[in-house]
Amino acid sequence: MAPYTDAHRLFLQALISHRILKEEYAIQLYRNCCNLTGEEVDDERFLDFIATLNDSVGQFDMEIRKMHDETTGEPNWALVNTNGDEIAQLATEYTASEIAYFKRLIDLIVRADDDAFSVTSIVALREASKLKTPITKSAAEALLDKFVDDRWLIKARNGRYSMDIRCLLELQGYLRGEYEDEILECTLCLDILTKGQRCDVQNCSARLHHHCARNYFGPHRGEETVCMTCKTTWYAKNVVGDDGQASVAGGGVSRRRGRAVLKKEKDDENVMDVEGGLDEEQEEELIRRPRKKVDKGKGKAPARMVVDNDE
Ligand SMILES: [Zn+2]
Ligand SMILES: [Zn+2]
Repeated sequence: MAPYTDAHRLFLQALISHRILKEEYAIQLYRNCCNLTGEEVDDERFLDFIATLNDSVGQFDMEIRKMHDETTGEPNWALVNTNGDEIAQLATEYTASEIAYFKRLIDLIVRADDDAFSVTSIVALREASKLKTPITKSAAEALLDKFVDDRWLIKARNGRYSMDIRCLLELQGYLRGEYEDEILECTLCLDILTKGQRCDVQNCSARLHHHCARNYFGPHRGEETVCMTCKTTWYAKNVVGDDGQASVAGGGVSRRRGRAVLKKEKDDENVMDVEGGLDEEQEEELIRRPRKKVDKGKGKAPARMVVDNDE
C-alpha cells in the first residue's frame, strides 16, 4: 500500500467538507491533490490511494465508501462513520427534537406499505405535530427542505420523501440494525435497496437496483431475461420504492454545514487535521478546476467540470 502523503491529507480535507462526491469529482479531486503536491497522477491507482486513506481513518471509526445513487445509478464516494452510533453525528447539525423528527420520518419510510420506502408530504408534516416536542407546520416544512438540501432525504416530483444516498451510506449500520426485517438488499450488489425491481415470483427474494438490473441484463438485451435466483422470466414490472422518479432538488456536490465533528479528532500525524489547511473557496477550487496537466490524464472526466454551488 502506498504511504500516506500530503495529497491524501488534501483529499481527506475536501472530502470531510463535501462528505459525498460523485466518482468523477472524487477522481478529479485525486488528480488535483496529486498535481498540487507534485505527486504522480495515475487513475489506475485511485483505489490504492483510497486504501491508504482508509488505513488512516479506520482508527477514527471512519471509512471512505463507494455506493451507487439509487435514483441516478451514479457511483459516489463518501466518508462514513463505522462506530455504530451514526445517528449521534446528526447532533452537530440538528437539535434533539429535529433528530427525533428525522428518526420518525425514517421509521415511516422504512415501514411504508408495499415496499414503497417513501412517505407523502402530508403524512410527513402530520408526524411533526405528533412528536413529544411538536414542531409547527412551517418549521417542519423548512426542516424537510433542509433534510433534502443536506441529502438525507430526496423529494420526488410526486411530493413523496424517500432516503437519499447520504442516508443510505452514513446510516447504513443504523438502518440494518434497527430494521433488520424491513431493510431489503440488492441481490447483485448487496447494498441496501429502497428503489429497484423485484422478481415476479411471490416467494423469490430476488431484488435489483435499477442500475444493477441494467448491468446484469444489459449484455443479454434481446434475449429473454430471467431472474438470477429462480430463473423465471424477469419483467421488471414490479417496482420497489417510490416510482415518482426525478428529484425536485439535490444531486449536486453537497457541502456539510457542520464541520465540527472531526475537528476534535487529531493524532500526532494530523491525519484528521482539517484546520489550518485550505479555506472553503480553495476546496471548491480543488474539485472544480483541473490543472492543465490533468487534461492529459487517462480518465474520462471532462477537462473542466462545473460543480453545482449549493450555497
Ligand atoms: Zn444493486
Ligand atoms: Zn426470482
